[in-house]
Amino acid sequence: MNDSLSLKEQRAVPRVLMHELAAEERQHSFAEVNSGLTAEQALSEAARCLQCKTRPCVSGCPVGVSIPEFIAALSSGDLPRSVQILRRDNALPAVCGRVCPQEIQCEAHCVRKKNGEAVAIGYLERYVADWEMNNRKLLLTEPVPSPTGKKIVVVGSGPAGLTAAGELARYGHAVTIFEALHDCGGVLRYGIPEFRLPKMIVDEEMAHLSALGVVIEYNVIIGKTLSLSDLQEQFDAIFIANGAGLPRMLQIPGENLKGVYTANEFLTRVNLMEAGRSNNSMTPVIIRREVAVIGGGNTAIDCVRTARRLGAERAMLVYRRSEAEMPARTEEVRHAREEGIEFVMLTAPTAILSTKEGWVSALTCVKMKLGEPDASGRQRPEVVEGSDFQLSAGVVINAVGAAPNPLLSATVPDLPLNKSGTIMIDSSGETGIHGVFAGGDIVRGGATVILAMGDGKRAAAAIHSSLSAHISHPDKHCFHA
Ligand code: FAD
Ligand code: SF4
Repeated sequence: MNDSLSLKEQRAVPRVLMHELAAEERQHSFAEVNSGLTAEQALSEAARCLQCKTRPCVSGCPVGVSIPEFIAALSSGDLPRSVQILRRDNALPAVCGRVCPQEIQCEAHCVRKKNGEAVAIGYLERYVADWEMNNRKLLLTEPVPSPTGKKIVVVGSGPAGLTAAGELARYGHAVTIFEALHDCGGVLRYGIPEFRLPKMIVDEEMAHLSALGVVIEYNVIIGKTLSLSDLQEQFDAIFIANGAGLPRMLQIPGENLKGVYTANEFLTRVNLMEAGRSNNSMTPVIIRREVAVIGGGNTAIDCVRTARRLGAERAMLVYRRSEAEMPARTEEVRHAREEGIEFVMLTAPTAILSTKEGWVSALTCVKMKLGEPDASGRQRPEVVEGSDFQLSAGVVINAVGAAPNPLLSATVPDLPLNKSGTIMIDSSGETGIHGVFAGGDIVRGGATVILAMGDGKRAAAAIHSSLSAHISHPDKHCFHA
């Protein structure tokens, strides 16, 4: 419990509200919507933590961040110590503090939620991580460990790959990441837009890894530029973290018309290639007055909010269930609504129509109703007979989901896969091939940043332990301030 407040006073403090860019301003701006907490707000929020002995929030965090401990250090004004505790468990705290679905993870388990609102754990995590970024000079540089002589390769630089690379480098192994694109971060770079996750944060994290000796080679596609057997010849262990970037198609007529994008293509053009945001973009995007985005997850929300910012007057989210079933984060749904996004719920598209010239002109849709729960536990959407209608749209973006890209796995017949194309692993993260590990979306088929990071961490520990028999391994170095 916080010493300076009585329990009654502590309970009476309301959950902090983060300052946000005004909705009118952000309709045309890619600036970050959430502006972070002030020092005063952070201390007041930290004081709301009851420091429960049972620590239920920790069990709700996929990487087991020592939540009460980092909050206690923050409360006592020892920010270097708070950074140290946070970094020990979480390699990308500034990212997680911004994009983790805390409301269904750590905060869902917070004791304060029983009689009010959970402690804003994600906001506090972001505060401490941002403080670290702005005060590096006050912190000791992380020591570079003595080399073990082992070489490890990581395929893909998304959150799973970056986490594994960092962990392995801290063990003293020489780590090389091969990345297919010309920049690092995976979905953190090309998927999640700047207004939710500034790219400067991904750059900072990469700089941190480079300082630890991690080498990254861009424009190398494993399965094409180099094969898995090439890697097996050159490295002592392999971690595959190539994500799930293959779009699922809508399977309706008109999908190949001009003006139809997959979410992956649309967001990559805008976030990675600056389309619509700079006059020099080599890969522009088309934006019309009416843009319809199909889907209800984070990706769909990111697309529709991006389309709005690029000038769509009527930016619509078309989803076959109701808002209550949308998998997108609650905060993002609220932000979208404030920005004037139109929610066309309980609606499924059946075809995309075109002008004579082959440009998208409308969607034909049917209305849906919710029936019995399906395998996911959500109510199954059912077609309302005779409810066909047309929805005018000049651009359609398909954001119904993604699957593993078979580019790498198709070249490795011995690699055991599930029916959906995800790579099979054992509890340590090892695939059916000895010395080859995998994690993140390529194993889970589309999950979350923190789950991908958890996989990277677990696989790194398993790789280190499997190689340890052959090395006099140094202790893992911690970040001491
Ligand atoms: P990725 O991030 O996909 O990274 C894979 C990397 O591997 C990429 O850089 C890719 O270029 C590279 N690669 C692919 N094939 C090869 C190859 N053959 N050779 C070399 N490199 C290769 N999760 C959240 O927790 N919160 C959110 O708010 C959230 N929003 C999202 C928004 C969008 C638009 C999307 C698409 C996803 C979102 N997610 C969110 C999900 C989350 O981003 C992913 O679960 C996570 O990024 C998976 O990490 P990963 O490292 O497995 O793969
Ligand atoms: Fe919560 Fe994510 Fe931080 Fe874990 S990493 S404490 S889930 S915000």
